[in-house]
Parts: sequence; C-alpha cells; structure tokens
Amino acid sequence: MYFVANWKMFGNLKSINTLDKVIKFSKSKEIKKGRLIYCPPYTLITSFFKKFENCLIDIGGQNCHESDDYGAHTGFINSRMLKSIGANYVILGHSENRIKGETDKLINLKIRSAIKAKLKVIFCIGETLKEKNSGKTNSILSKQIKFGLDKVKKKSNIFIAYEPVWSIGTGKIPKSKELQQTVEFIKKKFKGKLPKILYGGSVNPKNINDLTKIISLDGFLIGGASQSSKKFIDIVKKTFN
Ligand code: PEP
Repeated sequence: MYFVANWKMFGNLKSINTLDKVIKFSKSKEIKKGRLIYCPPYTLITSFFKKFENCLIDIGGQNCHESDDYGAHTGFINSRMLKSIGANYVILGHSENRIKGETDKLINLKIRSAIKAKLKVIFCIGETLKEKNSGKTNSILSKQIKFGLDKVKKKSNIFIAYEPVWSIGTGKIPKSKELQQTVEFIKKKFKGKLPKILYGGSVNPKNINDLTKIISLDGFLIGGASQSSKKFIDIVKKTFN
C-alpha cells in the first residue's frame, strides 16, 4: 500500500525535524507493507532527500513543466530536474492546478515528459461537487483519463489518484458504496495491466478505517493530515489493523 504525503505550499527547513518520527516508524516492523512517499515543496526536496538517505522513504515533486528540455521558463522546473535531485515521483493534474487553468492536454504533455524522465506519475482525477450532483462523475473521469493518458503506452509508472474535488480539504469523503463503484469504474477503463489506484481527499486517522474497506485501492494521497507525522503514521498503522 502506498501513502503519498502532499505537503502543498507548506513547510520550511524547521519542518524537517518533524520527520524523525516517520523515519523511525519506516524502519520498524509496524510499517508492514506500507510504502511512504513525501512530496514537499520544491524548496525542501533536497533536504528531504538527504534526511531520508538511510531509509526507504521516497520523494516526489508536486508538479513540473511540460518540457523535458531546459528552456526560458521563468519560475518552472521540469521532470528531468526533479529526477536529478532524487525525486522518483511527481503529482500531476492536481485539482488545485486544474482550477488555475491546467488543461487535460497540458497535463498529458507533463505526464509524457515525466515518464520520459523515468518518474512515476501520481495522476490526479476527480469531479467537482456540481459535476457529481448532476450525475457526471463517470463522464468527467473518463474524459480526464482519456486525454490525460493520450499516447501514454506503458501504464506501469502511472498511479491514478482519484480525488473528488469536493472532498479535498473539506473533511468530507465519499460514501463507501459510491467510492467502491467509482474505483471499479476507473479500473474498467484499463485493459491488461491496471495502474495502481489511490484515493485522496480529507484522509485522516478518523476516517481511514472506512476508507480501507474499499477493496482494490492501492493506497492514499494525503494532504493536510500528512503534515503531522503522528497523523500520517496513524493512518498507515490503521490501514493494516
Ligand atoms: C490533496 O491535496 O491531494 C489532498 C488529498 O488534500 P487533503 O488530504 O487535505 O484533502
């Protein structure tokens, strides 16, 4: 099971000390089959990488530019640059970026450049509340998958993170039955080898027991709660209990 910590635009050099608990946990038997991946802001990737030197915790970026070459793109970094500083993953298509204008086409270019750079992609998809209430969840997910993964032949490095937009940071999670149906729906979109499927949206130590009832999930993408090592560890522990 994968547990991806998305720190968004939070954290500074002092936050690195809070990782000691997680590092200790990652070396204990309690981690069981949990794989931990931290996606801090770019400014902390190198420090996190060094901090995790002697443990199996992986690092990812939270976005990247669509070009796999260097170029005049002020303020951006590309997938090769992420890879070169120790990242093995990148989150792409997050709704907080889609809302600022990232289109399916742009996300597709980013995914392809990340795959080329040998990064594993955590590809976020999800419907808004309005889309959910008008019964459009499946058609929105189909569109995001179709265009986002256009010309992506090998899916083994793709993780689909189903993140209902209305659930992110709101404390609300989908009803178990609905979530199970949506996960099944996403799986049916793929023939042959399935990508791994994560759920994201307000995952915390209180609701994790409900979420682990969803069979065929391969893990969780965790925002707010992942900034607390205690909460993050509790989520992992409860997943296996
Ligand atoms: C996210 O931003 O990917 C996310 C899941 O956030 P939160 O857990 O805070 O809802």
